[in-house]
Amino acid sequence: MKLIVLGSYGPFPPAGGACSGYLLEHEGFYVLLDCGNGVLSRMQEFITVNKLGAVVVSHLHSDHISDLFILRYALQMEMEQGLRNIPLLLIAPEEPREEFSRLSYKNVFMIEPINQDKMIDAGPFRFSFMRTVHAVPCFAMAVYLGEFKKLVYSADTEYFPGFSPFARNVPLFLCESNFLTEDLSKEAKNHLSAFQAASIARDAGVQSLLLTHLPPFRNKKDYLAEASNVFSNVSVAEEGKVYNIESR
Ligand SMILES: [Zn+2]
Repeated sequence: MKLIVLGSYGPFPPAGGACSGYLLEHEGFYVLLDCGNGVLSRMQEFITVNKLGAVVVSHLHSDHISDLFILRYALQMEMEQGLRNIPLLLIAPEEPREEFSRLSYKNVFMIEPINQDKMIDAGPFRFSFMRTVHAVPCFAMAVYLGEFKKLVYSADTEYFPGFSPFARNVPLFLCESNFLTEDLSKEAKNHLSAFQAASIARDAGVQSLLLTHLPPFRNKKDYLAEASNVFSNVSVAEEGKVYNIESR
């Protein structure tokens, strides 16, 4: 199983960068996790649009969904050209209602609302969800292959003690760290600091931690330094890089 980082910035990208978007692959099936601005272009460096099997979006903020509104044009053209004959599975939160209602477009998506009590299958992957603490309804996701939890993606969240059990012993923990500790002391909200992301990783006993959703104007080394004080097997998500997730 592979994780390809397409976009790793929030809430806006630097020159040449992209916002949240991660491509998961197993046995030729591809699922996109979040679809922020710049992600559709990046994805096509790896696969053509008609190879995409599903999209899962954690929440309906623009830095996580804006390229969905462009992807739908690509899907519409694929359908017109006979390259795709069924709508693409789009797994998304139902709220805020106004944002949710904007997702439907000419039957290009088959929309499956996220419910934290329900697992959802997409190809070989099984997803489970946990509501996070964010400005709008937002869901962290665990990705299973068979009975094994392979990956947890934090989505966007503030720190809360209930998070670490969700990521227990996972091989790869992809976690946002929009802040440094100094930001939290200025009452910054809605996101984790690098220290908090690393604390969750440590408490959950994950194998490796990949920091993401970094702001474009900051030095990545500061995030790495803050996190590695708490958890040693940490790196910052690199756009365009392919991460292999062990199959055991
Ligand atoms: Zn975000």
